[in-house]
Amino acid sequence: MHVIVVGAGIIGLSTAWNLRRRGVSVTIVDPAPAMGASHAAAGMLAPAAEVVWGQTPLYPLMRASADLYPDFAAELTAVSGHDLGHSSTETLVCAGDRADLVSLRELMNLQSSAGFDVSLIAGSRARDLEPSLAPGCAVPSRYPEIIRSIPAGSPVH
Ligand SMILES: Cc1cc2nc3c(=O)[nH]c(=O)nc-3n(C[C@H](O)[C@H](O)[C@H](O)COP(=O)(O)OP(=O)(O)OC[C@H]3O[C@@H](n4cnc5c(N)ncnc54)[C@H](O)[C@@H]3O)c2cc1C
Repeated sequence: MHVIVVGAGIIGLSTAWNLRRRGVSVTIVDPAPAMGASHAAAGMLAPAAEVVWGQTPLYPLMRASADLYPDFAAELTAVSGHDLGHSSTETLVCAGDRADLVSLRELMNLQSSAGFDVSLIAGSRARDLEPSLAPGCAVPSRYPEIIRSIPAGSPVH
């Protein structure tokens, strides 16, 4: 079998790599390889923080992808010899004002109902966890609660 993969972003290249590992012959076609969205991406895998209304069917996929990624990254590092710089850490989603805080609470309910492990923490605790947090995001007296979204499998500090 010969497969032509159109597009050499992270998806096309991952697909091509997996096909090659299964012994399939692959041609990748792309006039500007690796210059699409994959080139711009921030590289965060934060399924809980990415939860938004109206995408319910996506939640299990988001979680499964994040769960699969560490092994994928380790395997790719092993065969390529390039360290991908993959690390596992927590995500802090901060409220900047009262309106943000209302939205954050609603979002946290949605994230929890989607099965993600999130919790509200005090701004002072958030600053302990992330000292470079912008001052406006961590005013404990006014906006004491911050969503602490904990990726599955990561250590809780
Ligand atoms: C600014 C930004 C930040 C992001 N941050 C994150 C993040 O933190 N975490 C995260 O998970 N996701 C993030 N994303 C999303 C993520 O980048 C994309 O979901 C992912 O890169 C998509 O990969 P892809 O291979 O499908 O597409 P692309 O990387 O866009 O690759 C598509 C490729 O197809 C090629 N192509 C297009 N048309 C043709 C054609 N007709 N023939 C041949 N080749 C063609 C293009 O040249 C390109 O190389 C971000 C996206 C952007 C734009």
